[in-house]
Amino acid sequence: DSFDAMGLQENLLRGIYAYGFEKPSAIQQRGIVPFVKGLDVIQQAQSGTGKTATFCSGVLQQLDYNIVECQALVLAPTRELAQQIEKVMRALGDYLGVKVHACVGGTSVREDQRILSSGVHVVVGTPGRVFDMLRRQSLRPDYIKMFVLDEADEMLSRGFKDQIYDIFQLLPPKIQVGVFSATMPPEALEITRKFMNKPVRILV
Ligand code: AMP
Repeated sequence: DSFDAMGLQENLLRGIYAYGFEKPSAIQQRGIVPFVKGLDVIQQAQSGTGKTATFCSGVLQQLDYNIVECQALVLAPTRELAQQIEKVMRALGDYLGVKVHACVGGTSVREDQRILSSGVHVVVGTPGRVFDMLRRQSLRPDYIKMFVLDEADEMLSRGFKDQIYDIFQLLPPKIQVGVFSATMPPEALEITRKFMNKPVRILV
């Protein structure tokens, strides 16, 4: 039970250890490897279990750093959470040179557009602003190959269902999907049925 045994790139391991993690949590122990293999993964776990680093590691391991195009899109229910994920992604990916941007409401649209056009590997955001960036073609979906929904149940209870579906429609077919949720209400199960291909389900 170590991060070393997961087959992660050296520079990702450096980021993980530099961030202060020594051993993977239970969810990381079970969730990182399937994600890194490119499988669709449903992880049902409370916050506080280490799910952020699970999907951040999975995303960071699979990015192609030779192309500065958005390859992973992470949605979260609140601005604060999206910005928190952005920080973790940036810290863990420090030695990989990852470029991450948070697209959230209440910030300058122009500034988002400027940063997106300068090139990023990962976008983390709330559904409203992300959809807005896609609609304006400031965020181009062509290279996106990973789609993560964090706190899916919370996003649904905040009324983001239609926006999540609208965003999904604009993404390339056959992308990898990760769904993280503390609970699995019917609407969350519906998302997993519609968006996911033979998902691995991990309950912590
Ligand atoms: P999360 O569930 O992703 O919000 O993480 C909850 C807290 O656990 C955060 O403060 C993380 O920094 C911390 N954490 C996550 N994974 C580990 C780990 N492997 N070792 C130590 N702390 C961790």
